[in-house]
Amino acid sequence: MREKLVAGNWKMHGNQAENKSLLNAVVAGVAELRGKDIAVCAPYPYLSLVQTMLRDTNIVWGAQNVSQYDKGAYTGEISAAMLKDFDCSYVIVGHSERRALYNEDSHTVALKYVAVQREGMVPILCVGETLEQRESGITEKIISEQLDAVMNMAGGASLGKAVIAYEPVWAIGTGKTATPQQAQEVHEFIRARVAIQNAEEADNLVILYGGSVKANNAAELFNMPDIDGGLIGGASLVATEFISICQALQ
Ligand code: PGA
Repeated sequence: MREKLVAGNWKMHGNQAENKSLLNAVVAGVAELRGKDIAVCAPYPYLSLVQTMLRDTNIVWGAQNVSQYDKGAYTGEISAAMLKDFDCSYVIVGHSERRALYNEDSHTVALKYVAVQREGMVPILCVGETLEQRESGITEKIISEQLDAVMNMAGGASLGKAVIAYEPVWAIGTGKTATPQQAQEVHEFIRARVAIQNAEEADNLVILYGGSVKANNAAELFNMPDIDGGLIGGASLVATEFISICQALQ
């Protein structure tokens, strides 16, 4: 049985007061869901707050990005060791917003993935196609390139300590969710692609769906055989929504 996970991606939202009230509500709302894996990925300045508020709860925390470098003259960058210092469990790498807005290519994403694992944290590797790519019939080609860049650098076995998030770019923040069948198709493809390199890790690999997951569609998505939970953007900022999505984990 694969572990299932719901991870919130707050993106660049919140402030101290809002984060405190959001976390207070979420902590209380998911307290009875012990045994299910729940995480929130906060903006860097709030990691200390999140660390303090989530200690001794059943929620773990993570970051949304990391430098590919260990240390040095990289003004404005944050290393994996710094995130580890705040007891982060997860780090999102290769989110489509970073790929598109900050020109992160698959090679850089692979370096970040390796940096995260080197510090003993779990990368949440995001992959996904744009609408144009889907309409041109190259979804699988795009996903393969994104996956292979990581597997070629870190090896197939590294996926035993990673999570993959399939996030169709056209579904992120748009309110347009992939249908459970559309998502399942790609998740199955990802698992098969990983199996070519490492069948055992493929079986155990947690593959999240991300892209407009809400309280009213989470259960349907999470019930698909290859969907092991979700990476949640907008809905992770609303306590009642996020709690319901966590409750939808079977
Ligand atoms: P969304 O974002 O849930 O707001 O679509 C998901 C993500 O970007 O991780």
